[in-house]
Amino acid sequence: MVQSFAFDHATLLATFQTDGDPRFLWGLNRSTRGLFYLEENQAAEHRDHVVANVTCPVPGCDAQLTTVHSTIKRDHLRHRSSSGGHGPESLFHSQGCALIESWLARRYPACLVKREEYTSAEGESRADVLITHPSGERIAFEVQYSPLTADAWNDRHERYSARGVRDVWLFGHTRKQLKLDGADRLKSNPALDAVVASGAPLLFINPELEQIAVVVEQRHPISATSGQPLLEHPVDVLGRGTGSSLEVHPLDDFRLGASTLTSDRVDWLISARISLDDYNAEQQRLYAIAREQAAERARILQSEADERERLGRAERAAQEERAKRRRVLMADGIRRALDSSEPWGTEHPAVRLLHPYLNGHRDRNLGWEDYVPERWKCLAFFHHVAANEDTRFGPPQVASTLRRHGVRLEKGIFKVIALWLRQLVEDDFLFEERGEDGHSVYRPTYRGTWW
Ligand SMILES: [Zn+2]
Repeated sequence: MVQSFAFDHATLLATFQTDGDPRFLWGLNRSTRGLFYLEENQAAEHRDHVVANVTCPVPGCDAQLTTVHSTIKRDHLRHRSSSGGHGPESLFHSQGCALIESWLARRYPACLVKREEYTSAEGESRADVLITHPSGERIAFEVQYSPLTADAWNDRHERYSARGVRDVWLFGHTRKQLKLDGADRLKSNPALDAVVASGAPLLFINPELEQIAVVVEQRHPISATSGQPLLEHPVDVLGRGTGSSLEVHPLDDFRLGASTLTSDRVDWLISARISLDDYNAEQQRLYAIAREQAAERARILQSEADERERLGRAERAAQEERAKRRRVLMADGIRRALDSSEPWGTEHPAVRLLHPYLNGHRDRNLGWEDYVPERWKCLAFFHHVAANEDTRFGPPQVASTLRRHGVRLEKGIFKVIALWLRQLVEDDFLFEERGEDGHSVYRPTYRGTWW
């Protein structure tokens, strides 16, 4: 059912679209008003008959015709009197109408086929060719070579519709209607766009070659996976104006169908467009669902990650809390041991506890000498720094603690204490702040408090 593509549309199109030099092949029998067609190489044989009986078919002309034999061009007709001719568009138009009339009469012998211009002088509202089925159903054919506005086309289309007549528009193959860009793509015009908007296929006629050109567009199926068109899988669908390419087919491939003039290829292109639109709508729907599901999965993964992160933080906080409690107990033990009356030295309980407390941690400037720290520094450190977060103190508080524990304070002890505290500040165990009386006060850092 699909046209064979063994033939080359580009080559066919190059001969399809021409300008000027119409071949005059169809005339009108003066008495019967029937069509006369001059076959190739029949100029001599039919000259007498033509001169006697055949007139020009251009409406309103009626001039007597004769035949012309040519070895270069095909045999053809011309006005017998050399004066008076017709512009190419009106001659193409009359030849196109004659071809359609003759083709319809041959193809549908049970139907009545007539050119309305021959029977009516009213012109405009009459069809170029009207075919009437025995059932009374009518289809009007318009062969349109001259320019036409969109309003004029809509007006005539609606008038046919109001009379119950379906209309088929065959646009001329010359540049007045059929304009192509450098890539042989159609450049539409408002009248052509109006035809497309009505849903009818855009058709062009070349009466000499007895061919019809159909506009075709390449569209692409959409991937439900990516939401993007699959460019490697183009599908031919019925074209919709500018940018469409053209396919040239013999008039004999066409027939009257549900949508007026059609062919297997046109039917295929119409259904391809509908199927592809349906298919793409479905693919886009599936793509939207897949994207929604992916977003939902991402939300779930994120909330699971958030939960793991929260649990991890809670676990780390709990570990830290346990470690702090251990350090508090160790510091309490050392503080109590410092009150022991044992002689100060390596065997003193506080000194023995100090080693596990400092194990792996930095020294606290406790003044070690032969593995024995200075007692006053230990008292000061464990009463004011270790496990003493957020307490503020200065040399007077330290001196008071030392005095309470029986340390004999020598002259200048405040300066010694202040120097030691400054050292702890430099080692990041203490913050130094300015107190209300202008003297320095100290507060343990996190490291000083715990580690
Ligand atoms: Zn004429």
